[in-house]
Amino acid sequence: MIATVSLNPSIDVRYSLPVFQIGQIHRAASIDKTAGGKGLNVSRVLSQLGMKVSCTGFLGGKNGEWIADRLQDSMLENRFIPIKGETRSCLAILTEDGQTEILEQGPYISEDERKLFLEIYDSILEEADYIVASGSLPTGLEQSFYQLLADRAKQKGRYFLLDTSGIGLAQGIQGKPFLIKPNKEEFCKLIGKSHIELDEMMEYAQEICKNGVEYLLLSMGKEGALLVSKSRILKADIPVIKAMNPVGSGDSMLAGFTFAHSKEYSLEEVLKWACACGMSNAASEKTGSINPLEVQQFINLIKVVEI
Ligand code: ADP
Repeated sequence: MIATVSLNPSIDVRYSLPVFQIGQIHRAASIDKTAGGKGLNVSRVLSQLGMKVSCTGFLGGKNGEWIADRLQDSMLENRFIPIKGETRSCLAILTEDGQTEILEQGPYISEDERKLFLEIYDSILEEADYIVASGSLPTGLEQSFYQLLADRAKQKGRYFLLDTSGIGLAQGIQGKPFLIKPNKEEFCKLIGKSHIELDEMMEYAQEICKNGVEYLLLSMGKEGALLVSKSRILKADIPVIKAMNPVGSGDSMLAGFTFAHSKEYSLEEVLKWACACGMSNAASEKTGSINPLEVQQFINLIKVVEI
């Protein structure tokens, strides 16, 4: 079984508009509402790949109820902790020129809610082989919370995969997760650089792996991805596709990696699955959604080379 951790989920609302102008009134012809936050995107894609997924984290208020209903629709097991605060919603405005996002901070997590979560987390560790933790930390939790989760998972011999950014990632790495998946921008932030060439990126990534992270999956949007361990570097070159909505591609990539790794595929195949799932999400209008047949087609077009 695979468990996903979404500490700060959200209802993601997306408006598609021809143009977006500050200070003007806009009428949205197309509205998309999903149970989101990165962890729930990962969960849906894993489920589309046929995996049994258990989801945990914090849910509260009417927004939390709405998300719980969507979990049921997607046949995802609900192991969320009910909280006093209201689960957030986040807004994305999509135009031909790009995407504007407004992200709420999310509810405060009390000490009692934190304690209850850790109890559920420990019981999940008895059953799940993989723990995939994604997204930002809500207020109330310490910045080293992911490190704590990684430590506990490792003590139980579980794979702990972490996809977050900023201080949560910098601290989470101290727990030596099995995998981290920064995109280029998040990676630059992690190592404190504003811009970085590919060679340098590989050096830094390997340094992180030498300090205890088993794999670093560095996603580079339409330029593909690198999969780095302390002894190997694989680079995936991907074909050009028509991207409809790349939001959630990193989450779909993480789902693809977890699926393929759990099937004990070769590292080259695992990287292809990861990229193909990211691509299939980008090719779809929906956020955190893939087409398994398309994934198979993309896999055949991806080239992986050892560097
Ligand atoms: P994130 O969503 O975390 O920022 P990326 O944008 O790097 O992650 O995307 C993750 C993966 O999804 C990429 O490595 C690639 O395989 C695929 N992908 C994302 N955007 C595109 C795109 N425009 N064209 C083709 N593949 C894409």
